[in-house]
Amino acid sequence: MLPKPPPRESSLGFLFAPPYRIQGWSVAGEQTCVMVPELDLCFDIGQCPRAALAAKHLCISHGHMDHIGGLAYWCSQRHFQGMGPGSIIVPAAIAGPIERMIHGYRELEEQHTPFNIIPLEPEQTHEIKNNIHVRAFPLEHTVTTSGYAVIEKRSKLREEYVGKSQDELRIIKESGKEITRVLEVPLVAYLSDTAPCEALLRNDVRTAQVVIAECTFSEPEHLERSKVGRHLHLDHIIEWLGVLECDKLILIHGSRRSNVMEARKRLHEIVKPELAEKVEFLMDHRFNRERYENQMYEAERAEAKRTGGRMPPPPRPAMRPRR
Ligand SMILES: [Zn+2]
Ligand SMILES: [Zn+2]
Repeated sequence: MLPKPPPRESSLGFLFAPPYRIQGWSVAGEQTCVMVPELDLCFDIGQCPRAALAAKHLCISHGHMDHIGGLAYWCSQRHFQGMGPGSIIVPAAIAGPIERMIHGYRELEEQHTPFNIIPLEPEQTHEIKNNIHVRAFPLEHTVTTSGYAVIEKRSKLREEYVGKSQDELRIIKESGKEITRVLEVPLVAYLSDTAPCEALLRNDVRTAQVVIAECTFSEPEHLERSKVGRHLHLDHIIEWLGVLECDKLILIHGSRRSNVMEARKRLHEIVKPELAEKVEFLMDHRFNRERYENQMYEAERAEAKRTGGRMPPPPRPAMRPRR
């Protein structure tokens, strides 16, 4: 008998939560790396999947190996491929050890790998694109941990000036008055390892369009274990759903043992359908593929209707149409 080849590495989890692609890999204790290509952003880098190299900005939540193990590789590979240093946003409290780690690798590789660390204290922000900012906030885990909110700052005309003509507005502006105010629109929130804490109720988390959050345990008998490791349990998520205003809550960091299908079933048994529908699991490959094929079908159908073209064939019967 020939020996068996090693198991095939599974592919990245992928979801389209318009307008964002959420892709990556996340299993508790193994590795977490979640990318949002539309924002040139990557959250955590437990290992460094090829696709993560393209992200210009990287937010590190905490120093556990399953969240930071691929960082030095990311820096070195980006340098090797001539991609520039990229920015590494980290909790200010652990910026020192992170810098020392990268310096260690620079010594080992005998090369000047460039890197750009941006330490953020809780509530500090850093602009990653025009008007798009990342804000750090504290989470409660076994080590110093930050969550991140991606916020768009939009300039809005102050209410008292709505309806005024351009000339009137110009005169008011010239008199030194501020005619606009800044409106914050939370786009994406990322909460990696954490116990239930105040951050779950923050406005920039609660009202974010897409929330990405850990849910390490889902079986009822594992509630105690989630407390010990300071992690979220599906029961916490279910309670949280009542106040979340997001379009999509994407759960990551499940343990390898926890069965995604069981978790989804429990969720749908306990929670109202309109809330349960908001929840997706990044690593539920089969379900996400079917969901994407349905999205594709709906998009092609809309396009065919618009242009009078040929209707696409319906998705496979096993698939229920979903948003
Ligand atoms: Zn972790
Ligand atoms: Zn951790």
